[in-house]
Amino acid sequence: MLYKSLKNNKYIASFKEAVLFGQSPDKGLYFPEKIPLLEKKFFKNLSNFEVNDLMMEVIKPFIGNEIPYKELLNIISNTVNFKINLKKIYENFFSLELFLGPTMAFKDIGVKFLSGCIKYFCKQIKKNIIILTATSGDTGAAVANAFNKIDGVKVVILYPSSKISFLQEKQITTLGDNILALEIKGNFDDCQLLAKKAFYDEKIRKKLFLTSANSINIARLLSQIFYYFLCYKLLFKKKNNEKIIFSIPSGNFGNICAGLIAFKMGLPVKHFIAATNINDTVPRLLKSEIYNPYPTKETISNAMDIADPNNFSRIMYMFKHVKNLKKIFSAYSFSDQETINIIKFIWEKYKYMMDPHGAIGYLGLKKFYFDKKNFNYKNIFLATASPVKFLEKINKKLSDQILLNEKVKKLLKKTKKSIKLSNEYENFKNWLLTSNLDYKR
Ligand SMILES: *Cc1c(COP(=O)(O)O)cnc(C)c1O
Repeated sequence: MLYKSLKNNKYIASFKEAVLFGQSPDKGLYFPEKIPLLEKKFFKNLSNFEVNDLMMEVIKPFIGNEIPYKELLNIISNTVNFKINLKKIYENFFSLELFLGPTMAFKDIGVKFLSGCIKYFCKQIKKNIIILTATSGDTGAAVANAFNKIDGVKVVILYPSSKISFLQEKQITTLGDNILALEIKGNFDDCQLLAKKAFYDEKIRKKLFLTSANSINIARLLSQIFYYFLCYKLLFKKKNNEKIIFSIPSGNFGNICAGLIAFKMGLPVKHFIAATNINDTVPRLLKSEIYNPYPTKETISNAMDIADPNNFSRIMYMFKHVKNLKKIFSAYSFSDQETINIIKFIWEKYKYMMDPHGAIGYLGLKKFYFDKKNFNYKNIFLATASPVKFLEKINKKLSDQILLNEKVKKLLKKTKKSIKLSNEYENFKNWLLTSNLDYKR
C-alpha cells in the first residue's frame, strides 16, 4: 500500500516512510491511496476470529509486505495483550472499554502498535531515532510506556505544566531511562507548536532523526480501525450484519477517523456520532458548513481540549463534502456541568462509573437517540479512559467511589522528574541541540 500527501498528490510514501516521517515534506498528512474493501466471507466469519487474527486481517492490507507476517503478528500480539470489554449499561446501551491497557486510556493501542513498527524499522537504519511528542496527557503516558527501554530510541515528551491530571503526570515523569519529560510553561498548543517547529528546523534535522508519535502518524490511525470490528465480534455471537451506532468522544478526531475507515472497508455501521466538549469546531461546522476554530478552552475532559483537530482533513478527504458526511455522521458538544451530571446519574442508577471523556460519548449517544428516534439499534459509546485517571476532575463524593489498584497506588508514590522550560522556541531548540540525544549506538 502506498500513502499520499493530502496537500500534494505528488508526494507518495511507503508505509515505512509514512511511519518514520509522520508527515510529508509539504507538511501534509498521509492517507492510504485506496481503502481496501473486505470480502463478505470475512464478515460472515467475524465472530470466529481470535482477537489477534482479527486485527491482522484488518491491518494487513494497509501494510502489505513491508513488515513480514511473523513480525507483524508479533507486533499485534504485543499491542492487544489486554482485555477489551463490551459492557452493557442497560437495554441497548453499551460501553466499549478501551482503557484496560498499561496506561489506562485507549491510546495504548495505537501507540503500542506504532512503537512495534518503529522498533522493527529502527533495525534497518543506522541512526538513533528521537520520538518528539506534544501531549495533553494521555498520548505522553502511552508513548512513555510503549517506547520505554527500546534500543536506539530516545523519547522527548512536551507537556503543559499543571494542565494535565496528577496521574498522567506521574506516568510521564517517573520512568526515566530513555524517556525525557519536558514540562513547558504554557498550554498544549504551545507544546504542539514547539514540536512542529522543530520538525521542520534544518539545523535540528541535520543533527537528529526526529519522528512524531502524535495521532497524525498513520500507524496509530490504522491500528485503531480494528476495535470497531472487534465490537461486532463482542456484540454478536452469530449473526453480524445488524447495524450499530457508535459515539466517539473526539479531540483530534483520529479515533473517529479510524471508525470511518472501517465503514469504508465494509463494516455495517448505521451512524457515527462525534461527541466533543465545548471545543465545538466540528459540531458548528456541520450546522454552518464553515470551519472556524475558536481559541482552545480548558475543560474537565482535557484530552479533548483541541479546537483545530488534526485528523479532520482526512475525514473531509474521504467524504469530500459536509453534505455527504452528514449522512453517516453527526456531532454534538457538551459542557462540563452536563458531563459531571451524567457521571453522577449513571453511577447512581446503574452503578457504572464513566470518566469525563467516555461520559461525553454517552451524552452524544443519548442525544442522537432522542433526536432521531432511532430506538431499534444497538448503541455503543467508546470508553476512552479509566475514571481513575481523572479523579480530581470530578467531585470528591463521586471520586471516593473509585477504587485504586496496587499499581496505581505505587505509581502515585513515585518521584516526578521533569525538565522545566519556557514556551520560547529558541530555548527549546537550544536544549534539543545540546542535550546529547544523538548518542552513538
Ligand atoms: C485522546 C483522547 C480522546 C480523543 O481522541 P482523538 O482521537 O484525538 O479524537 C478521547 N478520550 C481520551 C481519554 C483521550 O485520551
